[in-house]
Amino acid sequence: MKPNDSLFSLAGKSALVTGASRGIGRSIALALAEAGADVALVARSDLAETAAAVEAAGRRALRLQADLADKAVLPRLVAETVEAFGKLDILVNNAGIIRRAPFLEFTEDDWDAVMDVNLKHVFLLSQEAARHMVPRGSGKIIHIASMLSYQGGILVPSYTASKSAVMGLTRLMCNELAGKGIQVNAIAPGYIATEATRALWDDPDRNRAILDRVPAGRWGQPDDLRGIAVFLASEASAYVNGFTVAIDGGWLAR
Ligand code: NAP
Repeated sequence: MKPNDSLFSLAGKSALVTGASRGIGRSIALALAEAGADVALVARSDLAETAAAVEAAGRRALRLQADLADKAVLPRLVAETVEAFGKLDILVNNAGIIRRAPFLEFTEDDWDAVMDVNLKHVFLLSQEAARHMVPRGSGKIIHIASMLSYQGGILVPSYTASKSAVMGLTRLMCNELAGKGIQVNAIAPGYIATEATRALWDDPDRNRAILDRVPAGRWGQPDDLRGIAVFLASEASAYVNGFTVAIDGGWLAR
C-alpha cells in the first residue's frame, strides 16, 4: 500500500485533548482538527481561543473547563465528549505541570501536586476512555512523556518520577489493551518553548547549556509535535504499540 493522505486522515473521528488552552496541547488539538477530527478541549482556564481555531478548521469543538487534579470530574469529561460527538476515538493526555526545587528541600505538596496531574489523572482518565473504547474494539490513547522519562533531570523530583511512570504505564496499557483494538503510545517532547519551560529559556546560562546539547541547534516549538500526534492518532500508525517516540531535535542522540 502506498502512503496517501487518507492514511493520515482523522475525518469522522472524535478526540479529547487535555491541557488544550496553550502550548503543546493547543497545537495538538489544532493538528487533529485540521486532519478532520472533532475535538473536546480540557483546561482550567478559558478555552475560547483554541475552540475558535478548531472551528476555523471546520471541525466541532467542545469546551470542557475542568481541574484534572479533581478526580471527580474525570468520568464526565469522557461522558460529555461521547454525548456531544457520539463516541471517543482518540484521547491525548497532555496536561501537565512542573515544580522546581532541590531534592533536599522538595516538599510533599509539590510531590503530590505534580503526581496528581501528571500521573494519577492520566491513569484514571485513560481508564474511563478505555472503558468506552474496548466495547467498540478500537481507540488511540496518546500520553505525553518527556526527556525525563529517559533521564534523571535536576531540581524536578516529582516531574521525573511522574514522566518515567508515564512511559511505564504506556507499556502496561499496551500489553493489556492492544489485543482489544486499543493502541497506546506516548510522545516524549524534547525542550519545547512554552510557559512550562520559561524558567529555562529565560535564564541565559540554562538556555545556552540546553542549546549546546541539541543537535538541531534550536528550541522545539509546540507545532513540532503536530505531525507525530496526527500519525499516532491515525491509521498510519496501525501497528505502533506501547512505544514512546522522542521528538527532541536529537537531544537523546548525544
Ligand atoms: P504549558 O504551556 O504549561 O501547558 C500546560 C497545559 O496543561 C495548559 O493548557 C494548562 O491549562 C493545562 N493544565 C495544567 N494543569 C491542569 C489541571 N490541573 N487541570 C486541567 N488542565 C491543566 O505546558 P506545555 O509545555 O505545553 O506542556 C504540555 C505537556 O507536555 C505537559 O505534560 C508537559 O509535562 C509535557 N512536556 C513539555 C515539554 C516542554 O519542553 N515544554 C517537554 C516535555 C514534556 P490551564 O493552566 O488553563 O489549566
